[in-house]
Amino acid sequence: MVKLNKDDFNDKIFTRINNLISDYDLIKEGELIAVALSGGKDSVLTLHALKNYQQLLDFDLVAISVDEGIDGYRQHGIDSAVKNAKDLNVKLVQKSFKDEEGFALDDIYSDFKSACIPCGVFRRNILNKTAYELGAVKIATGHNLDDEIQSFLMSFARGDTIKFSKFGPELDVIHPKLVPRIKPLWNTPEKEVGMWAVINDIDIHLDECPYSHLSLRAKIKEFLNVSEDQYPGVKQNVMDSFKKILAFENDISTSLNECEECGEPTSSNICKACELKREIISPNCKAHIEYKQ
Ligand code: SF4
Repeated sequence: MVKLNKDDFNDKIFTRINNLISDYDLIKEGELIAVALSGGKDSVLTLHALKNYQQLLDFDLVAISVDEGIDGYRQHGIDSAVKNAKDLNVKLVQKSFKDEEGFALDDIYSDFKSACIPCGVFRRNILNKTAYELGAVKIATGHNLDDEIQSFLMSFARGDTIKFSKFGPELDVIHPKLVPRIKPLWNTPEKEVGMWAVINDIDIHLDECPYSHLSLRAKIKEFLNVSEDQYPGVKQNVMDSFKKILAFENDISTSLNECEECGEPTSSNICKACELKREIISPNCKAHIEYKQ
């Protein structure tokens, strides 16, 4: 068996990320970039990679963690986010569903088909608001190659071609209050992210979210991993097809309004977070949360 050389591996993974950042001009000199830091392997590698990239370009970094309120699961992720941010000397801003929305995910998840629906909506909302308030011009997320392929297939499965506009290593500025995303791990396979964390003995949160098995993403991830084992190259083929489709569909764009209730950017009149809050406060909702406002 060929022994993995740690320095060579680190060099390979960081060079690929550095090249992606420079090829797509993901970060410009002087910008403040907010890293969405969950404490999982992908977000932790994103933080380390951007810290490393500061040797090549002068820009600022801040990290944001969001505690969704998942008992017995989230705390280790928060601990890992705190430790990694401290080790790298990056300021970490900690937010939670409880403080920002008045409820934990555990309080409300049972009112939805999947806990991932409210989780994703409120997390994106809190991340965007926090990054905007901090003056960050981009949010760097830990989406890796496998995540991107899964998201692509999920959009196909849902018939949601508007979501195609959210693919690629960077998202356009489509509203002044919507901080655009960049994905420095866009072409990094998930397996390599895990290997990086293990061979460098990085403190990361490895547990599976107790709600993840209910999600469409989990099913698609399993399907892709089984297919890849049996037919090596399947993931790359999906990604290549996706790039070809994007080349045809590059005029897909979404125009945004401001939510009539909270003022956050949205493609309709009411943003998804306010729409879900209406469901949560309705008398039919099991959780029936009283909002702090
Ligand atoms: Fe939230 Fe779903 Fe991820 Fe769990 S798996 S943290 S519920 S999005």
